[in-house]
Amino acid sequence: VTAHKVDVLVIGAGIQGCAVARELARHGRTVVVLDPGEPGGESSGVAAGILGPHLDLTADGAFLELCLHGGDRWPDWAAAIEEESGMAVEYVRCGAARVALSDAYAHELRSHVPIMQARGQNVGWFSAEALREREPGLPEGVKGGIAVESEARVDTVRLMRALVTAARRAGVRFVREGARQVDVLPGAHWGPGEGEGNPFIGAPRLRIHGDLERWEARHVILAAGAWSGAVPGAPVPTPGVRPLRGQAVVLDCGLPPIRSILFSHRGYVVPRDDGSVYCGSTVERAGFDRSVTAAGLRSILDASLELVPALGNAPVRETFAGLRPHTEDFLPVLGRGSLPGLWHQWGHFRVGILTAPVSAVILAELILGGRPPLDPSPYSVNRFLS
Ligand SMILES: Cc1cc2nc3c(=O)[nH]c(=O)nc-3n(C[C@H](O)[C@H](O)[C@H](O)COP(=O)(O)OP(=O)(O)OC[C@H]3O[C@@H](n4cnc5c(N)ncnc54)[C@H](O)[C@@H]3O)c2cc1C
Repeated sequence: VTAHKVDVLVIGAGIQGCAVARELARHGRTVVVLDPGEPGGESSGVAAGILGPHLDLTADGAFLELCLHGGDRWPDWAAAIEEESGMAVEYVRCGAARVALSDAYAHELRSHVPIMQARGQNVGWFSAEALREREPGLPEGVKGGIAVESEARVDTVRLMRALVTAARRAGVRFVREGARQVDVLPGAHWGPGEGEGNPFIGAPRLRIHGDLERWEARHVILAAGAWSGAVPGAPVPTPGVRPLRGQAVVLDCGLPPIRSILFSHRGYVVPRDDGSVYCGSTVERAGFDRSVTAAGLRSILDASLELVPALGNAPVRETFAGLRPHTEDFLPVLGRGSLPGLWHQWGHFRVGILTAPVSAVILAELILGGRPPLDPSPYSVNRFLS
């Protein structure tokens, strides 16, 4: 079987793989993305699309920095994807609030405000009256909350379609097959004459066995989300990555009873332009099982109806579940792997949509030998090796 030769082979067509593929193709690299399923068919396509770096109560350090940079890049990134694809992604700066429905939670939330402000999170406290003025759909007993105007949302189904189209137009080839094995081609290097200006001459080659075809690549990017620890020959140190299931429900509301994203201590609701409301979400250890369960639905609907009682009349449009790629310290892994030419881009857990624009640039700059916009060392896989 002849092997196809490419500069970069990306394993996984979720938002992370597609975003870095587009970035590298725009820098003139030949890029192929392998995925046995539909691009965006896993976690990325079912995510709520909350782009909310400021409302995380516990975010700190390198995690917060990645989220804030991701949030800052989103407006330009969304505009670029829309322009390149000719498709709308429904990026809307709708604002968001973390809402207290009990005095105890109000007290707790309030105590977070100065800490969050000191960390550079742009948040302020809103009284019950002020919150209900913004969001009349909240229940009468609401106790106040933290709100921020700059938080945004994106429709992840539309986004993934547009991102794949933008990547294709930049030259990325998507191939519908899984990566079964990665290895180093013994003695094989990129030689002169293999592409004008090829920066990889003299570098070793990696071989990737797909379901049907074989590929030779200078760079292999492992971006298989929750499955990133399961590609033979692409070593991922333990504890690595594991799936945490998230279930969600979409309700048809005609006119949504909310205008911004609302979180309680139990769940969240996100309005959409078509009048639907996305209600999420569970965080469960269920292995690779993507079932929607009775208990999952009950907890999501209880939390959503407690937050916005009028949702109780809305018909259920859709239910689904996705597997978030979770690492032990909640930070993604970005950067060099232990094989020459192997790169990691996985483990974004609950913020893979928010952070995609910055993660893709960090990885692309590392591969191209440029300057990443953030110090990449906190995201290195080496933290699991020491
Ligand atoms: C219910 C829910 C709500 C969420 N809400 C938000 C949110 O509001 N905001 C936010 O920022 N994040 C959110 N997330 C998290 C976000 O979805 C993830 O962090 C992100 O999608 C991870 O992207 P990914 O590309 O790494 O993984 P995925 O989207 O899971 O993509 C991985 C891809 O790899 C492919 N693959 C697997 N094995 C192989 C193989 N051997 N060869 C080739 N391909 C392979 C899979 O088929 C898949 O397409 C949510 C997640 C869930 C489940």
